[in-house]
Amino acid sequence: MTTVEANVKEVQHFIDGGYAASSDNQTFEVKNPATQEVIAVVAEATEEDVEKVCKAARLAFDSGPWRTMTVAERCAKIRRMADIILERKEEIARLEALDVGKPYSHAFTAEVPRAAHNLKFFADFVEQRGGETYPMEDAFLNYTRYEPVGVAGLITPWNAPFMLTTWKLGPALAAGNTIVIKPAEMTPLSVSLLGEIAKEAGIPDGVVNVVHGKGSVVGTAVTKNTDVDLISFTGSTATGKAIMRNGADSLKKFSFELGGKAANIVFEDADLEKAIPVSIQAAFLNSGQVCLAGSRILVQRSILDTFIEKFKAAAEALVVGDPQAEETKMGPLVSEEHFNKVKSYLDIAKEEGAQLVTGGSTPDLAAHIQNGYYLQPTVYVHDNPKARICQEEIFGPVVTIIPFDTEEEALQIANDTDYGLNGVVWTENLKRAHRISHGVRAGTIWVNCWFVRDLRAPFGGFKKSGIGREGGHHSLEFFTEAKNICIAL
Ligand code: NAD
Repeated sequence: MTTVEANVKEVQHFIDGGYAASSDNQTFEVKNPATQEVIAVVAEATEEDVEKVCKAARLAFDSGPWRTMTVAERCAKIRRMADIILERKEEIARLEALDVGKPYSHAFTAEVPRAAHNLKFFADFVEQRGGETYPMEDAFLNYTRYEPVGVAGLITPWNAPFMLTTWKLGPALAAGNTIVIKPAEMTPLSVSLLGEIAKEAGIPDGVVNVVHGKGSVVGTAVTKNTDVDLISFTGSTATGKAIMRNGADSLKKFSFELGGKAANIVFEDADLEKAIPVSIQAAFLNSGQVCLAGSRILVQRSILDTFIEKFKAAAEALVVGDPQAEETKMGPLVSEEHFNKVKSYLDIAKEEGAQLVTGGSTPDLAAHIQNGYYLQPTVYVHDNPKARICQEEIFGPVVTIIPFDTEEEALQIANDTDYGLNGVVWTENLKRAHRISHGVRAGTIWVNCWFVRDLRAPFGGFKKSGIGREGGHHSLEFFTEAKNICIAL
């Protein structure tokens, strides 16, 4: 990545160990969502470029030495990548704030360190991993090897680009695969550095490649490419379906982490001193552009008024502003298109008869960010869980409080959605906590907490929130082929 003119970055593909423009020199622009200023000019790949990048990854896989080097050597290089990320933490966090509009403080303290941890965790995990043996009396011995699949296509979204890409890159690399990354076109800056970071860490050329462009063209071409053996995708449910269709002819492996519409269930015995601030985080972190957002807040009717009063005050106290400023807790939405989509739900809410508690318009902003895609933290109350604002993933700072009376009703509402990524439960009653956790059909349930992650634990969605699981051995199963060897003794 080099500077074209003051503050406008030139972003190129990273192919076979070096930066490269597109074969036809086509580019597209990326804007800062806080100001609408152009911040980058990005290479836009042609189908021919995608062929080239996938071929580079194929050759690097087939001819080695990445998959044939010792696990210790491979994992040392991945750990070195993690160290370089930490050395460049401030730069990467600044890029993430510039590109996504997320608060710099969050990128710096949470997401970039987590990205480094993603790599280090899987390097350590693979190095310490044992195998399986199945002796058949004294006659035969079976043992199992986990071999890399081949070329891994990693297609990632814009809401946490660097952290989510490394969440796939760590296990894919540690398992010995070679990689084609297709970052989200709206936010390519931080992810575009991964090729050079890999190279600096001593990872051979062709192992980590990055190709930029629109999902409908470049993402589709990566998905269809016959040199690519698997697609690990995080993004919307609609794109997941398209990828499955487009990858069918080449019969790829798929892992899908898709959308969500989590129920955050607050019972009357909840500790509101904890439930309110964490529910605020779950609603408005990254301007609500989080797949795990607790965007349906189910509140037991006996505490409804108290909850609304406290939640409203906390939402109104959030500092909305310049993502680069230390004190900012919420920045803009990622793009004009997404801003308009999120705002369209304000009209839908009105038509559906939802009651506005707070928000719903543009916050007061400093002069330099007046053009940004900002929306106030917005809270509705609605007693119809079937309403569109209660069913559809808005992916913005817009949440709905839905009252309920009984445990059964809470479960029924929580499960009345196409999604099943996660759920949150607030109660001091241990048996109820277990009952609700078992009853909610979702891949992760947080009880009296939210977004606490142990990277060994399975992560993924029920229903239309995904296929497969990431985390610990679940990631490794996806990024490897298990081979059984049976020896006559
Ligand atoms: P998106 O589906 O629009 O795009 C994600 C990626 O897919 C981008 O890189 C895009 O260029 C690419 N893409 C788009 N069309 C494609 C196609 N036809 N073929 C191949 N690739 C294509 O999603 P987004 O708007 O970037 O991200 C927001 C969505 O991601 C939300 O639904 C959110 O819930 C989901 N998400 C899920 C998780 C999770 O872990 N489950 C995490 C973060 C985000």
